[in-house]
Amino acid sequence: MPLVIHTIPAFQDNYLWLFHQAGQRAAFVVDPGDAQPVLNCLKEHDLELAGILITHHHPDHTGGIKALVASNDVPVYGPDSANIPQISHRLYEGDCINLADTQFSVLEIPGHTLDHIAFTASPEGETPLVFCGDTLFAAGCGRLFEGSAEQMYQSLQKLSALPDTTRIYCAHEYTLSNLAFATVVEPSNQALQHKLAADEKKRQQGLPTVPTTLAIERETNPFLRCHLAALALAASQHSARELSNPIEVLREIRLWKDTF
Ligand SMILES: [Zn+2]
Repeated sequence: MPLVIHTIPAFQDNYLWLFHQAGQRAAFVVDPGDAQPVLNCLKEHDLELAGILITHHHPDHTGGIKALVASNDVPVYGPDSANIPQISHRLYEGDCINLADTQFSVLEIPGHTLDHIAFTASPEGETPLVFCGDTLFAAGCGRLFEGSAEQMYQSLQKLSALPDTTRIYCAHEYTLSNLAFATVVEPSNQALQHKLAADEKKRQQGLPTVPTTLAIERETNPFLRCHLAALALAASQHSARELSNPIEVLREIRLWKDTF
């Protein structure tokens, strides 16, 4: 049976993800920044909350935990972070948990925050997937609030090592603004132009642009392309310094995006 994943929009541009096995009522929510939209989705689909997964400590990912566990006594899986006291099951790199008949493994991916983790799975008969919070976005990556450019680079490398077909369930609809930046960094990238046209159409129809896939991101996401000459050139021109090390390139592109 397939793993069903519901997209729950919240706040301005967050996505909360709720998943369950087809035909089963036990559902798990990823990064419930707000409880009410999660409760609405459970009710609408006649599901029962069975657990909560947390990628990192920011309030737009954790704000709903308290209200959800008050009405549903369920485990809360997340990083070993002093900032999230509600975590009942603290997870580390390589840990595996079985949820909705699916084995998830944990990657530690610091950079956006120091406590950031991702949950990856390869559901039987389906393409792999990753819930990666605010680390990898469609055509972008998270801001460096706590970690270094080097940590973000290593974390993105770790995500980039997943299979090409991996579905990227990130936590925000930032795609069009990320693509606007990416096309300035890499104006001659045809794949970027195609993605921009396709995603503009989706947004005009009110559809989410995520999940994306790792194959698409490898072709269009500047933060996964820092090892390429075109990106080194763009970063060098922007900083007016010769940059070739992919970590330096990532640092420069991230700073550039911060003020774009
Ligand atoms: Zn965040």
